[in-house]
Amino acid sequence: MLSNRQLFLLHLGQTSTAPMMLEIEKAEGVFLYGTSGEKYIDLISGVSVSNTGHRHPRVVEAVKNQVDSYLHLMVYGEMIQNPQVRYAAKLAGILPEDLSCIYFVNSGSEAVEGALKLAKRYTGRSRIVYFTNSYHGSTHAALSVQGNETYRNEFRPLLPDTIRIDFNDFKSLDTIDEHTACVIAEPIQGEAGVILPEKGFLETLKKRCTEQRALLIFDEVQTGFGRTGTMFAIDRFNVVPDILVLAKALGGGMPLGAFISSGKIMSSLINNPQLGHITTFGGHPVCCAAGLASLEVIIEEKLAESCAGKSALFRKELDHPLITEIRGEGLLLAVQLKNREYVQYAITHAPGHGLVLDYFLFCSDAFRIAPPLVISNNEIKQACRQLLSLLDDAQKNVNIR
Ligand code: PMP
Repeated sequence: MLSNRQLFLLHLGQTSTAPMMLEIEKAEGVFLYGTSGEKYIDLISGVSVSNTGHRHPRVVEAVKNQVDSYLHLMVYGEMIQNPQVRYAAKLAGILPEDLSCIYFVNSGSEAVEGALKLAKRYTGRSRIVYFTNSYHGSTHAALSVQGNETYRNEFRPLLPDTIRIDFNDFKSLDTIDEHTACVIAEPIQGEAGVILPEKGFLETLKKRCTEQRALLIFDEVQTGFGRTGTMFAIDRFNVVPDILVLAKALGGGMPLGAFISSGKIMSSLINNPQLGHITTFGGHPVCCAAGLASLEVIIEEKLAESCAGKSALFRKELDHPLITEIRGEGLLLAVQLKNREYVQYAITHAPGHGLVLDYFLFCSDAFRIAPPLVISNNEIKQACRQLLSLLDDAQKNVNIR
């Protein structure tokens, strides 16, 4: 009989020449357990998904309760489903007033697709402006607004009428004009290696969009739900977008995405044509039940508020000659090393040191630290001890010519 390892390589569509290949039997809190009892500290959270940790008891209970009531009933937007309406109302309650109408989908990319379509439909314009080094997903429209050529060049033609401008370049905002349907941006760029906006940049962006009647879309797929120290990154910057895109931690470990706007903007999907956006599974009741439970935990356990101290602890403990900079906000950190070969060594050898680490898509000389927000101070210290010994090994074993 073939092993799972062999079956994985044979029957699962591969997109990487070097997949992580860890076989996990169980996950709990910040720990992942391998099939032979190996224990890993998860410093990635399935890429900013498991903010409340793996299998938080409240999330597991909500899933079990919902499974006992119903699974899929009907395509999105027809029947009144208790987990959907309760979660939408909860989100509307914590978001700025103009972000009160939630359209649930299945993933971040799909939420981006919906947001772009909504902006085109509402403004009657087609042009989309996006930023260098942005990441918004892997479907065709999301790829069309990806600010890096590496992953998209071979998939042309993409969406027409898209214009790329530089993040943090105030002058480039003049490109936004009366032809622009929308501008899509991550308020903090994740895959670029955690790039923060310069002071006043997002405010100026918002002002320019308002002047030109272009909609501003913020993609908080990676920065949402406490990750950067506030519930959403927009809470810190005080700039309210016309459309907000959420996914990843939105589902508490289950697949869920959303694009969110005012009722007025969202209503443009109702007519000419009716059913302006359709999804079969979007807002699946089990995912909404899990997401709501997870959000309640984030609020009650003050996980966003706890990020600043935890972030500072990582920065204090991670003192190593290979580290040239630690960038980021809250528990979305980029640890920059002297050379990308050290990064490659650290990530590939992390499991041997009981850690799960990962790359950024567009920043090869840094690795990512984005653990579940429930990580304790002791777990951070333990993770940092393991990381420092991993970096010692990297220093010994990597030959930089
Ligand atoms: N936007 C951002 C900012 C993301 O980080 C991601 C995923 N890394 C996406 C969109 C796409 O989400 P998904 O993989 O769920 O389609």
